[in-house]
Amino acid sequence: ESYLASPNRYDTMQYRRCGRSGLKLPAVSLGLWHNFGGVDTFENQRNIVRTAFDLGITHFDLANNYGPPPGSAEENFGVLLRTDLKPYRDELIISSKAGYTMWPGPYGDFGSRKYLVASLDQSLKRMGLDYVDIFYHHRPDPDTPLEETMGALDHIVRSGKALYAGISNYPAELAHRAATMLRELGTPCVIHQPRYNMLDRWVESDLLRTLRDDGVGCIAFSPLAQGLLTDRYLSGDVPAGSRAAGSTGFLTASHITPERVKLANALNEIAKARGQKLVQVALAWVLRHAEMTSVLIGASRESQVRDAVGALARLDFNAQELAAIDALVKD
Ligand code: NDP
Repeated sequence: ESYLASPNRYDTMQYRRCGRSGLKLPAVSLGLWHNFGGVDTFENQRNIVRTAFDLGITHFDLANNYGPPPGSAEENFGVLLRTDLKPYRDELIISSKAGYTMWPGPYGDFGSRKYLVASLDQSLKRMGLDYVDIFYHHRPDPDTPLEETMGALDHIVRSGKALYAGISNYPAELAHRAATMLRELGTPCVIHQPRYNMLDRWVESDLLRTLRDDGVGCIAFSPLAQGLLTDRYLSGDVPAGSRAAGSTGFLTASHITPERVKLANALNEIAKARGQKLVQVALAWVLRHAEMTSVLIGASRESQVRDAVGALARLDFNAQELAAIDALVKD
């Protein structure tokens, strides 16, 4: 049946300013890396996206290669944009990226101007859009001069095919150079997208300070460590239908080690004491940094989106809770 967005969709979500820009993002955003490919059930995708928007999740994150097959997540989201979300385009922040392998030959990978411009044109066609809201360089390129890649982002924004520019997976020093370059070009870097969760704390050493100084926002991907920081694997089993049981992606059954299961159970005790689910503690913990604009979750069913938004009911931590978490996940 046709979709009418919930009239209450802006009642509970929190929106945070992205760095020093005018852009605000929902504290919880939805990524379409997994579960939105050609191999996945379309009706489930529709339910997840509708649930998200109804809860005030205005930001949907894609990339050229999301699927499988590569490109199919953008195609599927394009269908949803046409059938469900068309009246709401101006309430949405849609992002895409280029930087990982997308097509054969020397122009379908990394960070050349040739690749970025062509890839965004393909993404826009797949989604049926005139522009994306944020376009990212997906990962650093050791060969292409940073000036060329940042120049391509500046060109893309000036051409009207993206409203804002971002970078992903850039280490702190390179992120600072990129932000400086983009500022000088007149197209500020609005956002950085690094991995950050209780099992991977690399951003805490330098990156967050750099982003704050440069006025760049931050959206953390895989905040649940792909499901390790949920109740999915607490029993130590790998349930059918879980990401670790699937044949696509990087999380495999071999990642569900006894040590990680033990850690997740210990964290789950802290969650219970707070009256939260483990996912909710994991998300609140990422959002505790003032520099953190949003957590970028994945979901294989709509209840997971509800769980994530439920984290907003309690984001604060006391010193004992933080110390207890640190004692478990010190890196
Ligand atoms: P998460 O760490 O949030 O993992 C999501 C997975 O965790 C879900 O698919 C689900 O797995 C499980 N899960 C989520 N909620 C619950 C719940 N309430 N209870 C139980 N299990 C739950 O994030 P992702 O790794 O999916 O990454 C999120 C997004 O980040 C991507 O879609 C993408 O947009 C972006 N990303 C960007 C990268 C980059 O290089 N810039 C790299 C990776 C991701 P299950 O299938 O088992 O149900």
